[in-house]
Amino acid sequence: MIRLKNDRQIAGIRASCKMLSAMYRELVPLVRPGVVTRDLDHWTRRWITAAGGVPAFLGYGSKKNPFPGALCVSINDEVIHGIPSKRKIAEGDLVSLDCGINLGGFISDQAVTVEAGKASDAARRLNAATRECLRLGLGAAKAGDRLLRISRAVETRAREGGYGVVTRYCGHGVGLEVHEDPQVPNVPRGPNPRLSGGLVIAVEPMITAGTGDVELLDDGWTVVTADGQLSAHWEHTLAVCGDRVEILTEEVG
Ligand code: MG
Ligand code: MG
Repeated sequence: MIRLKNDRQIAGIRASCKMLSAMYRELVPLVRPGVVTRDLDHWTRRWITAAGGVPAFLGYGSKKNPFPGALCVSINDEVIHGIPSKRKIAEGDLVSLDCGINLGGFISDQAVTVEAGKASDAARRLNAATRECLRLGLGAAKAGDRLLRISRAVETRAREGGYGVVTRYCGHGVGLEVHEDPQVPNVPRGPNPRLSGGLVIAVEPMITAGTGDVELLDDGWTVVTADGQLSAHWEHTLAVCGDRVEILTEEVG
């Protein structure tokens, strides 16, 4: 069931998104070679708590294997849901960060991919292409039109660059929970609801230098490319407000 939000709820989600983007503006410059990913996670927890929010991803998932961080840190062939650890970021790493904040019950979701130090040309091209997939996907979101327009725009740009599109995971409704209906795939497949007023969704292309096939590691969270190729991930949360689309999270990096 798709949960459409009223104006008061959208205002709450907007505030949550604004806080999340403000957090990223301070976090992104900290992503450098030599930094331990768990330290980024601890920094993120402290920042969100001090700002009056709650890390939305911390403890998310099943009781048996809840996500142990506030921040997903996915490096190189890791696509999403990388667990913060003792791992040190290396020169040239492609570091995807994904985070959500619960601010008074209103949930935001945003991801960025940061090049640590000097990345290879291939990594920089993939990252730029993925960011452009997101920009074009958002541009294709029209109030009253259909959701898969977004997916089509994302896939078309990715294929033009010769890139793989991850289809096993996708964007989603968000705002009152971390994951809500509808699904927002990165290829035009499946249910195609209208972008009605009150809809809040996260659009999040996951684009790879290889095939787009992925595997789940034994930790039950980390998703990696099956062929070991690089992956990048960018995400914004948007709301359909009456007859217009508003991007609630802000550009970072
Ligand atoms: Mg996310
Ligand atoms: Mg998301």
